[in-house]
This record gives sequence, structure tokens and C-alpha cells, in this order.
Amino acid sequence: MTLSIKEKIEQLRNAIQYHDRKYYVENNPEISDYEYDQLIKELKHIEELHPNLITPDSPTQRVGGEPLTHFSTIEHKIPMLSIDNTYSKEELKEFDRRIKRILGIDNDHDIEYVVELKIDGVAVSLFYEQGLFVRGATRGDGFRGDDVTANLKTVRQVPLRFEFSDKKQKIPSVIEIRGEVYLPNKEFQKLNEEKEEKGEPQFANPRNAAAGSLKLLDPRITARRNLRIFAYTIAYREGLELKTHAECLELIQKFGFPVNPYNQLRKNIEEVIQYCNEWDKRRRELDYMVDGMVIKVNSLDLYNRLGYTSKSPRWVISYKFQPEQAITKIEEIVVQVGKSGTITPVANLAPVQLAGTIVCRATLHNFDEIQRKDIRVGDHIVLQKAGEIIPQVVHALKEKRNGTEEIFQEPANCPSCNSVVKREGVYLRCYNSLCPAQTKRLIKYFANRNAMDIEGLGPALIEQLVDKNLLKDYADIYYLQYDDLVNLERMGKKSALNLIHAIEESKHRDLNRLISALGINNVGSHTAEVLAEHFDSLGALAKANQDELEAIYEIGPTIARSIAEFFHNKRIREIIEKLKAQGVNTQKLVTQKTGKNPKVSGKSFVITGILKKYSRNEAETLIKNLGGRVTSSVSKKTSYLITGEDPGTKLHKAKELNVQILDEEAFEKMISP
Ligand SMILES: [Zn+2]
Repeated sequence: MTLSIKEKIEQLRNAIQYHDRKYYVENNPEISDYEYDQLIKELKHIEELHPNLITPDSPTQRVGGEPLTHFSTIEHKIPMLSIDNTYSKEELKEFDRRIKRILGIDNDHDIEYVVELKIDGVAVSLFYEQGLFVRGATRGDGFRGDDVTANLKTVRQVPLRFEFSDKKQKIPSVIEIRGEVYLPNKEFQKLNEEKEEKGEPQFANPRNAAAGSLKLLDPRITARRNLRIFAYTIAYREGLELKTHAECLELIQKFGFPVNPYNQLRKNIEEVIQYCNEWDKRRRELDYMVDGMVIKVNSLDLYNRLGYTSKSPRWVISYKFQPEQAITKIEEIVVQVGKSGTITPVANLAPVQLAGTIVCRATLHNFDEIQRKDIRVGDHIVLQKAGEIIPQVVHALKEKRNGTEEIFQEPANCPSCNSVVKREGVYLRCYNSLCPAQTKRLIKYFANRNAMDIEGLGPALIEQLVDKNLLKDYADIYYLQYDDLVNLERMGKKSALNLIHAIEESKHRDLNRLISALGINNVGSHTAEVLAEHFDSLGALAKANQDELEAIYEIGPTIARSIAEFFHNKRIREIIEKLKAQGVNTQKLVTQKTGKNPKVSGKSFVITGILKKYSRNEAETLIKNLGGRVTSSVSKKTSYLITGEDPGTKLHKAKELNVQILDEEAFEKMISP
């Protein structure tokens, strides 16, 4: 029986929701990213043909909203009050005694508590009606918050719709879930690396990054930040009976929200303290920031009897961990130049052990900060890890000064090219587009594994080549001669030859890699892929105006402007001409639109030897995109062996097993549409 369009859509949505939960909530994916993308693509395709069937809870609607001009305000149904903080075991015991006093319970009587990790993120409220996510807000002042529904939809762990797995059970008609949105440490580091590459100010810690991402007006940018959430309570409910907080957490999990796996029910305050101590030591095992524990009375019946103080509920308290600090000395302050010319001060420190690593450098962010904190060269300083990741100077120990400390002078000239620098807000910037420091960073970015992937063209070599004037821009890479290279430091005949080959090979990279390599502001590898899906050549992309660019899914006004400005630049256009003149590919190699190729789809391939037109990675991606599989060794199940130059023992084995053998030309013929 064939499915109606509506049924097909429903089936796809259910499958995607199921796999979202497996991947994002249970950390237990059942299908590959590629298979998942295919489901999304198929759903998107059907919905494009039948736009009347698009509903707000469709997974395709997670990212799609237009940028907002401002956030509207939402009044919280139940105020989002703050929680009282404690810093010692004694204060925790006092919290327990106070509760017993109010309830008129003997001190040797036990009260049960749920102990939760205190995630260092941003508190949000999520409203569901009949299981459908209708709106979400930030905490704001506790009574009114910002409507960030569109941004919260991009958080893949937030169910757009939920139901019991046992469909007979009735879902509550209205429910408000509260949770903490956070950025995992590795996403935070990735984001800051990108910011550094682009010469933009970095986030001080994961919490700021999460808050900033949630407050972006363009949900398409929020979507790329990979925010996560842990739900921790049901603040409001209609048609739902609950007795304890532990029960509440269990239910939230059944609804499909991620609940922190380390939340625990403890019999009494002594056990609570034990558990707090345990996590004070273990917190660095986690891939997200935890700045303390939250302790909640388990019995919900007691909530009404305990009531509130003027600003916080009496049934809950937080226990904050002490941040780890160290004292060391600033040996010197140096300045570095970013890819787009931003000049930032960095302190070189006497090496010191801090929160598990040895720290010898700390960013000072900008020159105003040095002045505000009155940090001098030679100062003893208190060092702390922001979000336990980035070493930060908290303050200088002025009482330790002996008069030899020097006030750091803000540079008037670029440390790399000596051009006069200009102020831009709190930042200094070098505007010389020929500045060697910027050139070096751009070329490193271009040759990087994630971009043009030129093996052997590493940072140290690029420094040398720029200093010797052999490279003035990245197009010059393709004009390098064997003779230029062979006489360089630490470069033998063999490595010079290998590098020439690697450069030659990199001319055939696919369009998305080239777009990414160019170093357009705000265009990373993901955006480059999006662009390469829409344009068949670099020329077509360069010709697109801002409106055409903005019309592309996932491309917002900021990115569109960056791209348009980039290709408008005369010098950039000259560099691109230089690339083309040397035969660097500017066309799309694989047309994604062709989709599965019947000759390749479902077949299993093994590759041996060196291919002329593709790197091993490119060939594998190509086959996968056409629906085939690539394995590493030849077996009876192998459909084809593709052979390049210098094939290995695999060729022998393939002949033995009667596996069909294709040379590169035959393979090309097979995949050509
Ligand atoms: Zn400069």
C-alpha cells in the first residue's frame, strides 16, 4: 500500500524525532549522520512541494525563522526566582536545620533531598500546550523575560512536540518545563577559535557564549552554535499529579527532555554534603561547566509549607564550588595580530599549575582592560580559569609591587608591519591589507587541513616564505618553484618535491573547500558547504548580490554582506584571477543535485593507489554522496576496486576474488551523469 503524502511526512517526522532523541538526549545514535541528513533532505523536499503541509513542529522548522528586529517580552506565569547561594558545609547544615524548624521536625529526623549538578548556563522556561512547544523565554528579571522561542527551537534537544511512548497515557494539557541552556566546552573552544580566526572578540566563558547565542536576533546563527539543555523542573502543570521532585525529573525524561544523569536522591543532609564533595573533585570530568550543586527538598507537599523568603524559595539552595586560583608573575606583555588585523595583548607568565594544567600565557583581551585593572609588566597576579578553561587575570597584587613594574604602553604601530594602528571600540586594528602577520594567518588558514589541505605547508614554513617575500598572498603558493623551496631552512630535495606535488594536487579541491579557504569573514567550512550547494562555481558566487545570498537557507544578512564585500574588493579579485591562471579548480566537482547514482548506489568500493583527480578523502565523499559505500579491504562482498597509480596488494586480492576492477578513467565514466 502506498502512503499518502501526509502519512509519508508524518513518518519522516517521527523518524527524525526518534533519531534526534537517540542522538541528542540518549547519546546513543542508531544511524549515521549521513543517513540522518538524508531523512531531513527528503522531508524538506516533500515539504517544499507541499508547503501547506508544513507545521510548526516539523523538524525542518527548527531553523528557518527570519531574523528578528528585537525580542518581545513574556511575562512568566510563575516567577523565575533566584536561588540562595551557600559556600560551606556549615551553611548547608543550617539550611537543613531551618527547614526542620519551620516544619516543626526534630533535628535527628531525616529530610530527603534531590541533589543536582548546577550547570553554568542560562535558565529558560519552555511552554507546551497539548504537547506542542509554543513559546520559550529567558529568565530576564525573574518576572519578565525575552521571547527566545525561535532560538530555543534550534536547540536539537528541545522536543518540538512530546508524547508518552505509551500513547494511551494522556499528556498534560499545559506544562512549563524549566531548564539550563549551556554550551559544551568543546563547542565553546571551537567558537572562540573561530572568533579568533576572524579577529572578533572572544567569549570569556561558556556561560557568556550560551547567553550571547540565545540572544542573537538571527536564529540561523544560533543554530550553528550547538547549544544544549538540561531540564530540571516542571514549574507549572495542568492535568498532572506529582508527589516528589524525583518523580518530576523522571517524568521530564519520559517526555524526551535531557535530564542530567548525575542528579541523585539523598536520604539526609549528611549524604547531600558527601555528594557535593564528590562532585567538587569530579566536575572537570564533564564536557560542560558545573559551578556548584543545587539541593532541593524532595517532597512537593512540603513546598507550600516552606514558602518563600523575599526573593527565593525556601525548599532549595545552591552550594557553590570555590573557583581554583593561582598566583604568578607577568614576565612580559606581547601583542599579536589576528587574521583580520585585530591587535590583542597577551601576558607571558611564569609557568604555574592551575586546575590540572600548566599555564604560561593568558589573554588580556584588550588594552582598556589592562588599564582598568592596572596590570603592569612584572606584577604578581591572581590567575583563574574562566569557565575553568581559559586562564584569566583576575587582578594584580598591588601590595607585592617593588617599583620595578612597568606600565604597558599601547602600541601606536602594528608589531608586524609597522603601519599606524587605529582604534575600533576597545580594539586596535591594523588596516594594512598587506600586513605580513595578517598575510601569514590567511595563508595558514588557506593551506589548513580543513581548507585546501596542502600537506607539508605548515605554519613554520609559511612564516619563512612570507618573511622571504616568496608569498605575498595565498595565490602565490601556486607560483612557488622547486628552486624557491629547496634552499630553505630544514627543507631537503625530497620534501621540496613532495610539497610541489601537494600544491599541485590541491588545485583539484572541491568548490566548498576553496570557498572556505578564501578567508571570507563569517564564512567557515559549514557556510562554505551551504554556498557550494547553491553555486556551481566561484564565479557565480562572486556575482551574487546581497539579496540573492540572503535568500539562501541559513545565510543571514551579516554573512551575505561579508561575502558581497569580499568579492567587491579589487585586490581579492586579482588574487582569485591569479589562482585561476594557475589552474586552481573553481567549479563544483560533485553536483549534489544528481543525488544517488544507480550504478554506484548500494555498491561497495575499495580504493587502492594514488588517484590523479581526487584525494582519497574526496573520492570517498564522492562515492558516499552517490549512495555507495567505501571499505578499507577487499572481500567477496566488494563490488569494485578502484585502482590509481602504484596499486597495492589489494589489486592482487581483487583478482583472486574476481572483484571487478576499475581504473580512474572507468570510474569517472561510471559516475558521470
Ligand atoms: Zn600590520
